[in-house]
Amino acid sequence: MEIKIAKHAGFCFGVKRAIEIVDNLIREKNKSQNIYSVGAIIHNENVINEYKKNGMIIIDEDEAKKLKNEIVIIRTHGIEKDIYDLLIKNNNKVIDLTCPYVKKIHNLVIEYDNKNYNIIIIGDKNHAEVKGIVSYATKAVSVISDEKDIENLKISRDLKTVVFFQTTSNIKKSKKLVDILKKLFYNCLVVDTICKVTFDRQNEVYELSKNSDVMLILGSSTSSNTKKLYDISMSNCERSYLINDVESLKNLDLSNVNILSICTGASTPNELIEEIVLHARAKF
Ligand code: SF4
Repeated sequence: MEIKIAKHAGFCFGVKRAIEIVDNLIREKNKSQNIYSVGAIIHNENVINEYKKNGMIIIDEDEAKKLKNEIVIIRTHGIEKDIYDLLIKNNNKVIDLTCPYVKKIHNLVIEYDNKNYNIIIIGDKNHAEVKGIVSYATKAVSVISDEKDIENLKISRDLKTVVFFQTTSNIKKSKKLVDILKKLFYNCLVVDTICKVTFDRQNEVYELSKNSDVMLILGSSTSSNTKKLYDISMSNCERSYLINDVESLKNLDLSNVNILSICTGASTPNELIEEIVLHARAKF
């Protein structure tokens, strides 16, 4: 059996940066001191459980509003502006790990909101990143994820329109939506804000899955970017699996496999790839 590992697998740039900063913070902190994180800093249960053992407390947005004089981490995909402002006002030490790709969209939203554009975001309206992005506008922002959402759009035709994307959007699906929007709205400005990591991984998974008997997408099923990689993989290879540990590999049927390919979500460490490869080689 040949095992192919995607070139773009492992932690992404934003997650690597966040992990390095949090590791240092935990190493240097006083043992009795807690560090609060508004939501999980990354979508990886194993990493988060280790941090919890070392004094990290994961809180939700409502709990964050009550914090005073604490150390608070902002996750890679950001939080809503009013909560951020309140954390600062309440004298917390805020360690902002919002990925620069996400920050860039916050700034674009501020800029085009000031210019009085209609703002459309292609993404999942319930995802924390999108809620954060929307919160940087003073006027209503439309979030769409399919054609039905476009039919229901209620925006002024008198204003110019700008479209941004959630960083982990599905490239092919988003492109279809953009084509429709451009026909509907004259002078519709489209700013591609899908992060480079997402772009590279989705393309690589698409190509790998065309010629693989089995595709393994390693990562958490709660991770938006990982689920999208899995969907893309499934479109070419029906023996695609989303797994997060070696135990799950043991339950898979890997008979009659000539080529097994592996890619990961952005919050999956290289160590898991190594473990999976070792196990696959030993067993199959
Ligand atoms: S997936 Fe992209 S946007 Fe999200 S943390 Fe990684 S680099 Fe940043």
